[in-house]
Amino acid sequence: MIRYILFDLDNTLYSAKTGMENDFQRRIIAFTSRFLGIPGEEALARRQEGITRYGTTIEWLIGDNGFTAIEEYYAAVHPEGEEEVIPPDPQLRLFLKSLGVPLAVLTNSPREHADRVLAKIGIADLFTHIFDIRWNGNQGKPLPAAFTRALDALGSGAGNTLFIDDAPRYVQGYLNLGGKGLLRDELGRYPDYLHPKIRELPELTRYL
Ligand SMILES: [Mg+2]
Repeated sequence: MIRYILFDLDNTLYSAKTGMENDFQRRIIAFTSRFLGIPGEEALARRQEGITRYGTTIEWLIGDNGFTAIEEYYAAVHPEGEEEVIPPDPQLRLFLKSLGVPLAVLTNSPREHADRVLAKIGIADLFTHIFDIRWNGNQGKPLPAAFTRALDALGSGAGNTLFIDDAPRYVQGYLNLGGKGLLRDELGRYPDYLHPKIRELPELTRYL
């Protein structure tokens, strides 16, 4: 029985078609290029390789590149006004309220980004907890600790908590803990993904 639902934020609680992710990926590459003093294309290639070994760009910058200006990075990647591309979603609000299960967010983004985006969608008040990357000591999904700390705070076990994310490796990290994990593959990017997946959030009721 599912006692809690834990949502990723970006491209999970809003559509990947908004372009928000492209916007902040562009800012990540611009920042990385500046910090490493290399052209954007090289920064893109090095970051793509780096995040296969680390869960997030910030962990890669810290771990491989001696990076320390963490707050500067978050401010550059998530500027005020970034949420303008996200439309309000009153239907999602109604749907989430109809579930009758407590809801929380686990994101590898910083809290201010989560607050802005959730407010813009119109669902900020529907979550009991918002676990962001700082809360996890700047070490995010798919590390087991990122999940277990959140579950401990919720007082809910992995087997009773449905976790939904648009990134297969983050869902896999949760499945590895014995959790109930669900991929949101809105655009059909992962036809070979073998575990439970949905395109739109209302389909999640099948897994409650
Ligand atoms: Mg996401």
